Amino acid sequence: MIYHQLALNVPLYSLLTYAHPTALPAGTRVAVRFRKRLVAAIVWESNVQPKIDINKILPIETILSEDWQLPADWRALLSFTARYYHYPLGQAVMAALPKGLRQPEAVPLPHQEMMYTLSNSGRIQPAPPARFHKQHALWQCLQSAPATLQQLKAKHNQATNYLNQWLQQGWVQAKPVPVCGSIPASPYQLNQQQQHASTLIQAKFGQFAPFLLYGITGSGKTEVYFDIMAKVLQQGRQVLFLLPEINLTPQLMQRVRQRFPSTVTVILHSQTAAGQRTSNYLQAALGQAALVIGTRLAVFTPMHNLGLIVVDEEHDYSFKQESELRYQARDLAVWRAQQTNCPIVLGSATPSLESWYKAQQGAYQLLQLSERAHACAQLPQIHLLDIRRLPLDNGLSDIIKQKLQTNFANGGLSMIYLNRRGFAPALFCAACGHIFGCPNCSAKMVLHQHAGQLRCHHCDFHQRIPHSCPECGNQDLTAVGQGTQRIEEDLQHLLPDARILRVDRDSTAHRHDWAAIYSKIMQQQIDILVGTQMLAKGHDFPHLNLVVVLNADNSLYSADFRAPERLFAELMQVSGRAGRANYKGEVWVQTRQPEHKVYQALATQNYVTFATAELAERQDLCMPPFSHMAAIRADAKTMRQAQELLRQALQGIEQQQPLPTSVSAFGPVPMLMARLAGYERAQIFLESKNRRDLHHSITIWHSWLQHLEKIYPHTRWLIDVDPLEM
Ligand code: ADP
Ligand code: ZN
Repeated sequence: MIYHQLALNVPLYSLLTYAHPTALPAGTRVAVRFRKRLVAAIVWESNVQPKIDINKILPIETILSEDWQLPADWRALLSFTARYYHYPLGQAVMAALPKGLRQPEAVPLPHQEMMYTLSNSGRIQPAPPARFHKQHALWQCLQSAPATLQQLKAKHNQATNYLNQWLQQGWVQAKPVPVCGSIPASPYQLNQQQQHASTLIQAKFGQFAPFLLYGITGSGKTEVYFDIMAKVLQQGRQVLFLLPEINLTPQLMQRVRQRFPSTVTVILHSQTAAGQRTSNYLQAALGQAALVIGTRLAVFTPMHNLGLIVVDEEHDYSFKQESELRYQARDLAVWRAQQTNCPIVLGSATPSLESWYKAQQGAYQLLQLSERAHACAQLPQIHLLDIRRLPLDNGLSDIIKQKLQTNFANGGLSMIYLNRRGFAPALFCAACGHIFGCPNCSAKMVLHQHAGQLRCHHCDFHQRIPHSCPECGNQDLTAVGQGTQRIEEDLQHLLPDARILRVDRDSTAHRHDWAAIYSKIMQQQIDILVGTQMLAKGHDFPHLNLVVVLNADNSLYSADFRAPERLFAELMQVSGRAGRANYKGEVWVQTRQPEHKVYQALATQNYVTFATAELAERQDLCMPPFSHMAAIRADAKTMRQAQELLRQALQGIEQQQPLPTSVSAFGPVPMLMARLAGYERAQIFLESKNRRDLHHSITIWHSWLQHLEKIYPHTRWLIDVDPLEM
């Protein structure tokens, strides 16, 4: 018997040993019994010396992928991921696989799409007579150029039958569709800065080179990506393109299709249907697709011949997964580029301070695009409107109302942008001050007037809008705060003829909603958009010329040290929506703190000033990127229970296994959002300037938590390395 180490979907930090008469290559998918159930597993190592009694070792039941293995570089990536994020390897491996490959069932490999054309002996045959016009058309199609089955079926619905006949007769020949067809030239000539960026990146093809492409919104970063992607694809290598959100960027996808019409492209994101995702994944792995576009999960796509990675909007928080395996896809992408020896381009108008700092240190090469690419597009003017002494009517000052009225009268498109934090409308009792909170979370319930409900936005809890206050019985309940719904209603009163559209999670709940909304906007059927951060993400609305930002101040009061960075990026991004094409844009920000550094940097649209000041402050406080952090979290039905586990571990470690001196531990403290879905949440932060020391400390913590969890069975714990949540 040969013994194998297998990765299974079980919460164990070591691999499990199973037996098979012959040695199976690493990366093979197999089915095994675990606690009587049949489950999928991946061979990690074969020919190992078993560490347990060989009579207890179970056999591998079935081999699920005889002809294909998960490649070695993919396994290395997963081993690193599990180690770095202190997560069970088997569970990390399964999380990185699409559902189809996590089941103990064989999956057929995607079949290679073929192209058909007349062979030499076909070419000397007479074409079918013209009176059979469909058949004739089919023949001509085969004669003119290689065509796919789909293209042939468009000529004749019986194409498959004829094709089989002609293939048998030797008149038609088939060959695989080239994964990277011809790439049409860009409609644009790159400007000097774009060309410079592209040239520098191209000089590093075939080696590891991380670039930070810092370009203001509309400066043509996408054109730079496309230019280098085209070059890599033409060399026969694959490209991995990561972006924060796919459903919200139909425009980008359209540009990709236009620029790479005959490059086999697969898309991977959480809403891709399960079967499709498995086949896309395999196509990338087998080299049947040249371009892989996806959200954070796509960083785990096995690739046959990777030549370039692009991470667009690299600062975006959605690259970090905030549940289970808490990985940062951008960081893993850099690791992956290094392992693969290929360049990686991180692009943003407001780079994360982590990446900016690396560029300052020279670890990343900085590439800069400082002007808008479109000849007529100018940067918008940004005005800070001090509302400390202005009367507000439903949150809007007179100046803003006038701006909206005038812009509507002139036929412009306006956008009201609501900063998400603390902005949702809540219900409260004016008599006793009672606020309707979620019973499970430390959050106010959000008023959804149309649905007649109060809903918690953090868990599933919802209830009908109550008629009276549960504390004092008062029936006169008041809605406070403006949500998107209320703003929409108020605006409709102000501008009865305006076509107002609200864009939020409710109105874009379904996969195709956003595409429909988007086309409405592009066809100029909308006068005013009202929405939250969804509207900020990379869209290009050429007619948008007035942006109004309401209530952004809330973020300034946050205890999260990243709040200013996040707010600045968000507001720069929203502002960047205005004045994209021939229209001059104006941005108005209502604020009670116009002198705040975030707003001052925003008014001059100067990321560098902001980043420099913010980094200086982080350095003083020894915060990331000047130190590295990990959060050890615990949650339980009560805060006392949650903190108890952490406190016990802390004490044990201090007494018996002191951490390296470079590591400090803070806490336990409640999380900013202390209560979630019925659980109280506490955390301890570990911080160190030395990554190695930090990891060593996490390992110590880890073993203590594993030991203590038996004593505190009702408290759950997790480790978040490089946490973004506070
Ligand atoms: P970013 O990704 O930096 O926001 P885009 O690549 O979307 O910028 O470019 C902004 C706009 O400018 C797009 O409409 C794009 O087609 C146009 N554009 C980009 N590069 C050029 C160029 N070299 N010449 C003319 N127009 C360009
Ligand atoms: Zn809740």
